[in-house]
Amino acid sequence: MNPSPPTPAEIEQAIRNVPDFPKPGIQFKDITPVLADARLFAGAIDLLTEKFVSQRVDAVVGIDARGFIFAAAAAVKLQAGFVPVRKKGKLPYRTHEQDYALEYGSATIAIHVDALKPGSRVLLIDDLLATGGTAAAAAQLVKRLGAEILEIGFLIELSFLHGREKLRGYPIRSLVVY
Ligand code: AMP
Repeated sequence: MNPSPPTPAEIEQAIRNVPDFPKPGIQFKDITPVLADARLFAGAIDLLTEKFVSQRVDAVVGIDARGFIFAAAAAVKLQAGFVPVRKKGKLPYRTHEQDYALEYGSATIAIHVDALKPGSRVLLIDDLLATGGTAAAAAQLVKRLGAEILEIGFLIELSFLHGREKLRGYPIRSLVVY
């Protein structure tokens, strides 16, 4: 018999808060206890994909690096392809790049130029929505390839950082909101 699906509250209880990592003042949300628990990991993927199980999804795009874990599992569940958006310099073939602002300085992410077909139906997934800069840049890369973003999904949203404001116009799903 299948175990009962977890609630978002159970997933929240498994997320470990690590103060002052990777630097003072940041409270890091450690999702590894969720991944290590088969029921919670599968349940998180079920919750991230539930709206789309009977729809056509061509690809799930995951954001470097923890986003890959959830996006790849979601892609298998939806019988869709998996496409990585990676930090600049990591993808081997020709890429499109997108800069975005960090608290101090900027960063660049990239996607292969042929990763998505124009008009393809795509879910974008990352582990955590903070200020929204990373996901907004990834969404721009997906749009640059002419694909359609059906939804942007996160395991965790830090709502006090107002990341949703950078993602206006996209449907957003976050399982655990702080
Ligand atoms: P942002 O661009 O500000 O929305 O940051 C989102 C990215 O940074 C995600 O890929 C997260 O993995 C990572 N991130 C930001 N803040 C945290 C945090 N408090 N705990 C864990 N990861 C974080």
